[in-house]
Amino acid sequence: MAERFYCPTVTGERAVLEGSEAHHLIHVMRAAAGDHVIVFDGQGHEYLCKVEKISRRDATLKVLERRTVERELPFSLTVAAPLPKGDRQRVLLEKLTELGVTRFVPLVTERTVVRPEKDVVARLTRIVIEASKQCGRNRLMMVAEPESWSSFLEAVDPTAAKYLAHPVESGERERLEAFQKGTLLADKKQESVPIVIAVGPEGGFTDAEVEAARTRGWHLLDLGPRILRVETAAIALAALFGTSHQV
Ligand code: SAM
Repeated sequence: MAERFYCPTVTGERAVLEGSEAHHLIHVMRAAAGDHVIVFDGQGHEYLCKVEKISRRDATLKVLERRTVERELPFSLTVAAPLPKGDRQRVLLEKLTELGVTRFVPLVTERTVVRPEKDVVARLTRIVIEASKQCGRNRLMMVAEPESWSSFLEAVDPTAAKYLAHPVESGERERLEAFQKGTLLADKKQESVPIVIAVGPEGGFTDAEVEAARTRGWHLLDLGPRILRVETAAIALAALFGTSHQV
């Protein structure tokens, strides 16, 4: 795949790369006038472009061809999870983007340790852009503002199939149940039902938080006898629900 650049405002026949995208083209790629690159706008469109003019700060590209390339899931997939610590945030956002997740919601639950900072959406979106450049995605995974568990439960799409990852002690029966729910989900996916997945913080959801979800029609999912980190659970679920329609 040709080198890809993000430009949210491709107007008519030109795209202008600025900031880190211009830096990537000019100083990392060392592109020259006449080189061909791919530009995507984050809203689903992709363009074959030719480098027309390079200055110290920006690069002007001429659009040669607008392409319609569909690389999105055929249904909406939301993942809500508290942010893990440090570098694991990058892993989480990168993998969810690659797996085609539509929207990520940073959750704040009772036991959430990492409190999202003020400009968390912009910081996480930068990771989404980098991952989209690499994986060929033309529509950005939306990063929502951080939301408390109670307001998230209130706001969630009532038509969605809703799954809460929650480890259970007694094992087999619940795991079987989880498997059946997976099958149910596969059926629903064919009808393009939106899917919402929630993962708890390192300390887990409280009993009250689980109960609040259950009373609103959420299904519990047990992912097996080992305790997964937040990002592992979120990525595993996104892979389970996001890739199964393609196989
Ligand atoms: N001690 C916590 C508990 O019992 O909930 C473990 C929390 S775990 C590190 C973080 C989150 O990942 C959990 O709240 C849950 O959403 C998800 N998770 C981890 N392992 C899981 C499993 N085996 N089954 C279902 N969910 C799991």
